[in-house]
Amino acid sequence: MNNDRSIAYFSMEVAVMNEVPTYSGGLGILAGDTIRSGADLNIPMIAVTLLYRHGYFYQKLDDDGNQSEEAVRWDVEDHLVAMEEKVTVRIEGRDVEVGLFRYDVRGQGGYTVPVYFLDTDLPNNDDYHRKLTHNLYGGDKRYRLCQEVVLGIGGMKMLRRLGYSQNQIRRFHMNEGHASLLTLELLNEQMEDNEGTSIPPNILEAVRQKCVFTTHTPVPAGHDRFPMDLVKQVLDYHPAFDMPQVFCCEGELNMTYLALNLSHYTNGVAKKHAEVSRKILTPKHDFAHYTIDSITNGVHARTWISPPFRNLFDAYIPGWREDSFNLRYACGIPREEIWQAHVKAKRLLIDIVNRRTNIGLDADIFTLGYARRATAYKRPDLIFLDIDRLQKIVNDQGPIQIVYAGKSHPGDENGKALIRNIFQRIDQLKDVIKVVYLDNYDMAMASLFTSGSDIWLNTPEPPMEASGTSGMKAALNGVPSLSILDGWWIEGCIEGKTGWSIGENQEIESAADSRSRDAHSLYDKLEKDILPAFYNDRELFTDIMMHAIALNGSFFNTQRMMQQYMTQAYQ
Ligand SMILES: *Cc1c(COP(=O)(O)O)cnc(C)c1O
Repeated sequence: MNNDRSIAYFSMEVAVMNEVPTYSGGLGILAGDTIRSGADLNIPMIAVTLLYRHGYFYQKLDDDGNQSEEAVRWDVEDHLVAMEEKVTVRIEGRDVEVGLFRYDVRGQGGYTVPVYFLDTDLPNNDDYHRKLTHNLYGGDKRYRLCQEVVLGIGGMKMLRRLGYSQNQIRRFHMNEGHASLLTLELLNEQMEDNEGTSIPPNILEAVRQKCVFTTHTPVPAGHDRFPMDLVKQVLDYHPAFDMPQVFCCEGELNMTYLALNLSHYTNGVAKKHAEVSRKILTPKHDFAHYTIDSITNGVHARTWISPPFRNLFDAYIPGWREDSFNLRYACGIPREEIWQAHVKAKRLLIDIVNRRTNIGLDADIFTLGYARRATAYKRPDLIFLDIDRLQKIVNDQGPIQIVYAGKSHPGDENGKALIRNIFQRIDQLKDVIKVVYLDNYDMAMASLFTSGSDIWLNTPEPPMEASGTSGMKAALNGVPSLSILDGWWIEGCIEGKTGWSIGENQEIESAADSRSRDAHSLYDKLEKDILPAFYNDRELFTDIMMHAIALNGSFFNTQRMMQQYMTQAYQ
């Protein structure tokens, strides 16, 4: 089985299933969806990630919206298969032992893609190194760098141990810069036959030919940077340290540039994101110009389509499970049946929210859904900017209720404050609009939220939303988006046909004035277009639902995305 694999996909987080909490959000979900579609398409790939025994974290919110974090309790061996193989990596001058677990992702036709989870929690390691694979995105820079050594270098060694030889794996795909250190191990492998302490250009080029890099965010905190002093403490000396054209820049290791410098193909995750990345990643000293292509993200259709819509598609769209492009034939489904499937999906959401919170949401009321990581640039509170206006819209056009969820990174104080703000608004608005914030957002909730809301709301500050994928999950379930024109929505929005835009697609500007303008654009759309359609023009509303599936569901999926990776990146 091992000798037919030619693509190795490395990701700091992978969401193989909801019960395996080794993901935090969009990046891990995308990795999981990528692998699921890879298995569907018989793509000869394997995946490498870390095992987080404590998960990302279990989120608890108190009555004031204060977030606290607990380790996720789960039994690894309930879901993953323990493997015998072990390797050692050098970390901080010591040999750290790395063990292994496996999960096989099974495609629609039965082909499987193995996901390898690396684990350092072994008795031979000291305490600090045992904990390296406990927490996703926890700890300080040293902890993170050590984790990335395990992922990149440990992962490469593990592949060789498993029998994936140098001749077989033709492409190493770094899903974000966290995995960039795998390039050092690839260089080492090439240099072994070559001796010497500097790296000749032909070896750099040979490694470049094997590597593919996807960058995922224009937000600076999303790009890992480590001081060289720290790098030299954690890693044994490597000749690449002294080569600025490899190890950029200025006294620090920037994982994004390491990946860029040693990949022959790089892409952003939406057209706009690739454009923004070309601007921000061209170094000021300008000794290198990077070619950054774009492959727009997708989501895995079978995973994210709710049971009511699965039944509907089974009845009307033969072959939708085998080929997501068939979703274009949603245009032949009677609109009333789309509506009825949606009503069922909405009930599933409302019932669960009511059971968990006793808030008493009403399935007949227009329901806005919003769920994603709580962080400043995503502006989850934008809809509350002008409470009076919001109140007037409800009085004039009909009632609204809002469901929220999302974790804040434990170290993101602004993100945590945003959750508290929303809780204050919930209290302030309780007689006008029912708003509820559910804790511990995960894949299962994402599924319920994106399929059960009437409109999916997204209000990031442009150009920070590289792609966004939850709106794609909504589209697959006939739920139109109301969203800022950023990321994938620039490509997916046909105004009044697949959903609605907030604001205009404009050049980067100052955040303060865009905030008020965007909020009022949001109110305008609710007041003039969306609520009138929802409450008084079912035909128009269901037509938009149909187009969300036929135009966006059929395209913004990982089947199309993986086919693009095959032709643009892997071949
Ligand atoms: C899809 C998903 C995300 C990503 O949503 P964005 O819209 O890209 O922010 C985050 N968390 C979970 C649990 C998801 O399922």
